[in-house]
Amino acid sequence: MGGVSAMPPRLSVVAPCFNEAVALPEFVRRMAAACEAVAPGDHEILLVNDGSRDATWPCIKALALSRPGIVGLNLTRNHGHQLAVTAGLARARGERVLVIDADLQDPPELLGPLMAKMDEGPDVVYARRRSRASERPFKRATAWLYYRLLRRLTEVDIPSDTGDFRLMSRRIVERLNAMPEQDRFLRGMVAWLGGAQSELLYDREPRFAGQTGYTLAKMAGLAVAGVTSFSTLPLRLAGAMAIAGALGAVALAIYVIAAFLAGRAAPGWTSLALIVIFFSTVQLACLGILGAYVGRIFLQVKGRPLYLIDEVVSSETASDEAAARLEAVVGRR
Ligand code: UDP
Ligand code: MG
Repeated sequence: MGGVSAMPPRLSVVAPCFNEAVALPEFVRRMAAACEAVAPGDHEILLVNDGSRDATWPCIKALALSRPGIVGLNLTRNHGHQLAVTAGLARARGERVLVIDADLQDPPELLGPLMAKMDEGPDVVYARRRSRASERPFKRATAWLYYRLLRRLTEVDIPSDTGDFRLMSRRIVERLNAMPEQDRFLRGMVAWLGGAQSELLYDREPRFAGQTGYTLAKMAGLAVAGVTSFSTLPLRLAGAMAIAGALGAVALAIYVIAAFLAGRAAPGWTSLALIVIFFSTVQLACLGILGAYVGRIFLQVKGRPLYLIDEVVSSETASDEAAARLEAVVGRR
C-alpha cells in the first residue's frame, strides 16, 4: 500500500461509534471478514468516533494502526449519530458504501446478501427490520407508530422499520454528500433521492455490549427532524385549526347572545376558564410548531460546518508520517 492510492476501493464501510470500546474489536473482526469475502484486499473500514467518553478512540487508533484498510476519524465532540455517519460518508472513497452500526445489532455478515442484491441493479439496498425482539417494548412501539405516522405526513416514500443500515452506490453517496442540510435525517434523505432502491429483510440482534447511545431526547430530536425535514403539514395545521376555531366561535357567539336575550345569561366562570385554557393551549402548540421550523431555519442560515474532525488515523497516514519524518531527518544532513 503506502500513500493515498489513486484507485478508489471497491467497498467502504462507515461505522459510527459512541462508547463502543468493548464491542469494537469483535465488530472489526466480523466486519473485516465479511469485507474479505466480497472484496478481498479492496475495501476500507471507516470508524468514526463521535465524542465517546470511554476508550473508543484509543481502541480505534490501535485497530487502525494494526492493519491496513482501517481508517479512524475522531470528531471534536459528540455530534450525534447522523452527523457521525455524514462525516464517514464524506470521507469514504469506495464504489459502494455500507453504513452499519458498530454495536453489532446490524450483522456484518449481511454484507454479502446486500452486495448480491445490488448486483441486480439498484442504487440503494436498505436492510429492513423483520424483527427487533431484543429491544424494549417501548422503543419498538414508538418506532412502529412513528414510521407509520411519518409515512402519512410526508410525500417522500420513507421505508418503515428501516434504520441507516444500507448499502449505497457511489453516485447516491455523492448526491447525499452534496445535500447541505444541517438537520440530517439520512434515511429520509436517501429515500428523497429516489431511483431504484431495494430492501432486504433481517433480524435485528441484541447489542454486543454497553448500552444505547440514543437517549430519549436524542430519539425525540431525530423524530422531529424526520417530520420537519420532509413535511410542512404541521405548519398548515394552524390554518386548519383556525377554521375549526372560527366555526366554534360563531356557534358559541350565537348561543351566548341567545342566552342573553332570553334573560338567562350563565354565571359563566367555568365555561370562560375552559374556553381560555383551550384556545391558549392551541395557540402555544402552534407557536411550538412554528418554533421548531424557525429554529431549523436559524441553524441552517448560520451555515456552520456540520461536524469537525480532530484527527484521522490509518496505517497509511502512519507510514506517511514516518516517511515524512525520515525525509526531514535526511533533509537536514
Ligand atoms: N452513535 C453515535 N453517536 C451518538 C449515539 C450513537 O455515533 O450520539 C452510534 C452508536 O455507537 C452505534 C449507532 O450510532 O454504532 C447506533 O446507536 P445506538 O446503538 O446507541 O442506537 P440504537 O441501536 O439503540 O437505536
Ligand atoms: Mg444499537
